[in-house]
Amino acid sequence: MASLDMNDNKHVFRLALPTPLRRLFDYLPPQAIDYKNLIPGIRVLVPFQSRTLVGIIVSIEKKSAVPEEKLKRIIGILDQVPILPEDVYKLCLWAADYYHYSVGEILACTLPALLRKGKPAVAKQGYIIANNATDLPLQLNAAQNDAVQSILAGKETFNVFLLDGVTGSGKTEVYLQVIAKKIAIGHQVLVLVPEISLTPQTVERFKARFSAPIVALHSSLSEQERLQAWIAAKNGVAKIVIGTRSAVFTPFAKLGLIIVDEEHDASFKQQDRFRYHARDLAIMRANINHIPIVLGSATPSLESLLNVTRGRYQLLSLPQRAGNAILPQFKMLDLRSTSMEDGLSDELISMMHDHLDRDNQVMLFLNRRGFAPVLYCTQCTWIAECHRCDARMVYHRSPLRLQCHHCDARSPVLERCTQCGGAGLQPIGLGTQRLEQAIKKHFSNVPIIRVDRDSTRRKGAMQDLLEQIHEQKKAILLGTQILAKGHHFPRVTLVAIIDADSGLFSADFRAAEQMGQLLMQVAGRAGRAEKSGTVVIQTRHPNHPLLQTLVQQGYQAFAQSLLKERELSILPPFSYFAIFRAEAYAEENANHFLIAVKEMLSTYVESFSVLGPVPALISKRKGLHCQHLLLKTNKRSVLQHTLKNVLQKLEALGASHSVKWTLDVDPIEV
Ligand code: ADP
Ligand code: ZN
Ligand code: ZN
Repeated sequence: MASLDMNDNKHVFRLALPTPLRRLFDYLPPQAIDYKNLIPGIRVLVPFQSRTLVGIIVSIEKKSAVPEEKLKRIIGILDQVPILPEDVYKLCLWAADYYHYSVGEILACTLPALLRKGKPAVAKQGYIIANNATDLPLQLNAAQNDAVQSILAGKETFNVFLLDGVTGSGKTEVYLQVIAKKIAIGHQVLVLVPEISLTPQTVERFKARFSAPIVALHSSLSEQERLQAWIAAKNGVAKIVIGTRSAVFTPFAKLGLIIVDEEHDASFKQQDRFRYHARDLAIMRANINHIPIVLGSATPSLESLLNVTRGRYQLLSLPQRAGNAILPQFKMLDLRSTSMEDGLSDELISMMHDHLDRDNQVMLFLNRRGFAPVLYCTQCTWIAECHRCDARMVYHRSPLRLQCHHCDARSPVLERCTQCGGAGLQPIGLGTQRLEQAIKKHFSNVPIIRVDRDSTRRKGAMQDLLEQIHEQKKAILLGTQILAKGHHFPRVTLVAIIDADSGLFSADFRAAEQMGQLLMQVAGRAGRAEKSGTVVIQTRHPNHPLLQTLVQQGYQAFAQSLLKERELSILPPFSYFAIFRAEAYAEENANHFLIAVKEMLSTYVESFSVLGPVPALISKRKGLHCQHLLLKTNKRSVLQHTLKNVLQKLEALGASHSVKWTLDVDPIEV
């Protein structure tokens, strides 16, 4: 921190402001102020264009590149001590540099809304409460014990562990026992999870184990609750913080360990504005804080597996299910040789009867909500499409309407075709609502519980459905991927993947990896307690080499064969991507903008390749045309350096009203 000469009033205060501009802003101090109060890290109020903004002092300089008479003055001081501890601050600076995003916006988005608005950071009394722990630690099996010992054995220094354990192998128990040791020596622990609202059981399990205060950071907290949780972590009162991706920026008094559960999960990547990957930032944070970090998954990302191969991460394996549970058996159902109606093959129906007759639960997985993805005219081949997107309207039955899954536009279901006026409109294809209807026909006496984004929209609905599942004996659960994530359904003994083929043939090079992960996650729901499980995969490509490897040799072999493919075609993680995305109401504006970017890049073409511009997969959303320019290199430093130069040039051009653009470093959707 720069020390200030109190007699010298020629100081310039360099601020981070919440604007998209990738730069800092110089201001003069308020008149007649004791400079002692103006230290880096505190929030101040400043005039900016016609508004007043809350900024953070980044540094104190002797002079500015801006002539002094043009500099404005700080008009208010909001803090006496820095609002962010140094480690969070360093993480923000690193992220700004790595993702090429405005540091002012990053700093602002790490703060709870009330602090962003300039409110004071004051803790409310007895707000964060201790838990009434009732659960005792379990007796660890040998693999779990090895994992716990390895994590604790390392000195208090940066170390990345990949805890690779099949679903039900007791990863959570490993986390709990490592955390217990950390809390006992006065450390705090950060646990990042993909989705809290979908898996309230996780938080409950933590609360049942520890009496120490735990805070869960999730989207349904009020502004005041979020602020109090944030303060409790910062001043050391909260011992465990469980949160989704933005929790990676939580300040701590003494952070001793980070855990990233389901590290492969795509929801750790923010998909708009500041497009960071919370797992990657968590690793950086552990590095800055000199502490260990544990990445846990039953289906680790190819990135993490490669880092194990390269010796950067230490692999900890839990190859078997904990307790008495055994891994499920896979069974392929070849749809080419069986008759099928609305997603249910005869063979699947008879297996379902078998399992239900023994009072077990059956889970059907279909990653498409709604009744049918297409409303089609059998007389003239017209298809109902969204007016604002390059996408089809999805036919919904309950409630009855057409709905766009990209912009949420809704319209009544048509009686007659818009094009030919005929009455031949028919819903084509299969969604969860149609599957539900088909199940009802075959299993009229069995409770059916559908879990998808439509049935869980209402607050508390997910919790209600989960309770129903736990109360019922025999039942059929059906749902999309939100049913696949992390839940523990001990009565489920049969899981069926209704359509495994959609992931096998996709334009995105990550689709196969994601298909394999999802398939294993879904499979992991079967037979988690003492009952053994069966996983049925309905497919028209039972001999597909990837499916075969996955089913016969398991996820590790599958992942290694995907890694070989990626290496041969020099795709991530063997190369690095960045994407410029441009959106405009007029398609040519988006296109011209990206062509201009491509030209700026042309001076650097030797070090990487540029593909595009091309229309995005969904080329129009909410009326905006979307185009992409893809940059690919095998040297990260070249990418970073080039992007910096190009962004400076782009910013010098000033904001454009006709084109909105973003840069996505390490995109996960290509
Ligand atoms: P994962 O997080 O890998 O899916 P969990 O930690 O949720 O696995 O464990 C799955 C089930 O096995 C839970 O019901 C848990 O209580 C039980 N379990 C975990 N470890 C043990 C153990 N060492 N002995 C007996 N049961 C265990
Ligand atoms: Zn028609
Ligand atoms: Zn739409």
